[in-house]
Amino acid sequence: MFPKIFISACLLGRPVRYDGKGKRLDHPAIARWQAEGRLVGFCPEQAGGMPTPRPSAEIENGLAGADVIAGRARVIEITGGDVTSQFLEGGRKAIEFARAQGCAYALLIDGSPSCGSGFIYDGSFAGRRHVGNGVTAALMREAGIAVYSDREIEALAACVDMHTAT
Ligand code: SF4
Repeated sequence: MFPKIFISACLLGRPVRYDGKGKRLDHPAIARWQAEGRLVGFCPEQAGGMPTPRPSAEIENGLAGADVIAGRARVIEITGGDVTSQFLEGGRKAIEFARAQGCAYALLIDGSPSCGSGFIYDGSFAGRRHVGNGVTAALMREAGIAVYSDREIEALAACVDMHTAT
């Protein structure tokens, strides 16, 4: 089998982050998967219609992606704008894209209110982290896509190797 991997576009170095930069992940597995044509990059926030650069955003009140999906929390920019609908739209488009590409796995950068899967920030814009998913990561997990953070790339590599061998 040949599983494809959805990857946060910023991890490929694409300049899609709120600050107009990328955040390339240099790892031998990335180079190998790129050579094998397994990686498909996507930025949910851009897909949701947000410009680059853009104000940083966090999920309010120490809540997480599942709360945003359920309508219990908003995603708020540091400048006060409510970007909840853009984050939800971007997440839905990410799922559609991942399904269309046949992605069984996702490698998402941690800490983002979209792509975070191990931790996110608490909405205070004070650099305080808590355990939780961003909006896209939560939607992907609901959709049955196996989500790994950039810090878990070794575990993802082991899983992909096993999947490929079967
Ligand atoms: S939404 Fe995801 S892919 Fe886009 S810049 Fe943020 S962390 Fe990177």
